[in-house]
Amino acid sequence: MNMITGAVILLINVIINTLFFIGFNHRQAENGQVAANATIDQAIHPQYGHCGKCGLTWATVEGHSTRYTESEGMFPLCEKCWSELTPEQRLPYYRSLWESWEREIPGHANWNDIEKAVLEGK
Ligand SMILES: [Zn+2]
Repeated sequence: MNMITGAVILLINVIINTLFFIGFNHRQAENGQVAANATIDQAIHPQYGHCGKCGLTWATVEGHSTRYTESEGMFPLCEKCWSELTPEQRLPYYRSLWESWEREIPGHANWNDIEKAVLEGK
């Protein structure tokens, strides 16, 4: 009798935990699936850069390459994120990458060239 009661309690626990797990994953999918995927993606591909918006790495998604001079380009966003934003909404991601360049290699790129290219929809 005690064994049966124990088994029933164990079974109920498994069911509750399973339901909780499913519910948790569902909430994650609504609130932060992309962020969770990006964290895993970056952990698996530490040598790769990543999209400034969704956080997925260049091993997983394709970057949208923006040429701002004849020979120079940059890709702060993946194709999907780039396509979902207006040129004005894209600017902060380009600015952020340009600022990180400025910290490492001052004068590497001219912000005015980049801003012009982004606003032209490149
Ligand atoms: Zn993206």
